Amino acid sequence: MTKKILILAGDGIGPEIMQEAVKVLQFVNDQENLGLELEQALLGGCAIDATGGPLPEATLKLAKEADSILLAAVGGPKWEPLPIANRPEKGLLGIRSALELFANLRPAILYPQLASASSLKPELVAGLDILIVRELVGGMYFGKPRGIRTLENGEREGFNTLTYKESEIERIGRIGFEMARKRNKKLCSVDKANVLEATELWREIMTKLNKEYPDVQLSHMYVDNAAMQLIRAPKQFDVMVTENMFGDILSDAAAMLTGSIGMLPSASLDKTGKGMYEPCHGSAPDIAGKGVANPLATILSAAMMLRYSLNQGRVADRIEQAVSTVLDQGYRTGDIFTEGTQKVGTAQMGEAVLNALKAQK
Ligand code: NAD
Repeated sequence: MTKKILILAGDGIGPEIMQEAVKVLQFVNDQENLGLELEQALLGGCAIDATGGPLPEATLKLAKEADSILLAAVGGPKWEPLPIANRPEKGLLGIRSALELFANLRPAILYPQLASASSLKPELVAGLDILIVRELVGGMYFGKPRGIRTLENGEREGFNTLTYKESEIERIGRIGFEMARKRNKKLCSVDKANVLEATELWREIMTKLNKEYPDVQLSHMYVDNAAMQLIRAPKQFDVMVTENMFGDILSDAAAMLTGSIGMLPSASLDKTGKGMYEPCHGSAPDIAGKGVANPLATILSAAMMLRYSLNQGRVADRIEQAVSTVLDQGYRTGDIFTEGTQKVGTAQMGEAVLNALKAQK
């Protein structure tokens, strides 16, 4: 049976890194007869340039029809002067929201070969393996009312709204518990229940859900403490579950513990398991077009897609193994380069992964 995969290369380094991920996908597709049909569409700044908006109707239609979506990254300085409602990032938020991709899974895994690339001491991060489950379609980024208004005294005021319904908290909470169950059975729910009522409710629902998952050890932590603990002793965490904005910030911090954001994939899932897969990083305009970006996070996103949405865990394992092999062989893009390793560009790194796949027994 064929499976439709929508490829969204986006902006900045997006097309460069996507090219390598597509080569890898096509290779395993041919070799393993996966029946994947790859289609390309526009999202973000490139869509604004071509159609006037960041999420064209045609892209949304293809996204809805697809079995799964692989995205590189969107955005860049060219589109920053546009009003927020028309910026590339709106395309991303729009697709997440239209497809109800409410669960964002962000693993922060430190490859042993890269322990020295972390800004923390190797003993603090060696063996790090955290999964952050971030709520993705609610909270402050979507809450209404929002805007900038002028007060009676003529001063302007910016305002946003943080809301979470019980059902929204419960569905992301369940994902957190389910993921913890598949791992080390420890779930830390992050909130700011001492200050924000929306997260007071969050804590109450998480505590209630724990009764259905008695085998999972649930703890609660305020977000400011969670930020400190992530830097102080990150290995205390197994799975963390949190609301949209806290998750946005904490998952970037966790990503940095691993040495490079260029290594980290992510998944955003709907309630049926359909998903959009993308690297954790952005479009890196500072290095776009130079052929130096790290394509591994996008390649690992393709692996995650095979595992979570396409039921091809064994093929995902092969890709992850190939990535580990190229790190063993000493290949490094600039972002993970250390003395004694071999610096390569985007295309060479993609080629090395392909060669490692070809060499697998
Ligand atoms: P960024 O992740 O693009 O870049 C941060 C730093 O990490 C830069 O120095 C960059 O060169 C480096 N970096 C990122 N990915 C890399 C890779 N694969 N290989 C090597 N180095 C890499 O974050 P930013 O600079 O805050 O944002 C740039 C643009 O990307 C903005 O327009 C932002 O809105 C957008 N953005 C998009 C997404 C997304 O598409 N999901 C996510 C975050 C930011």
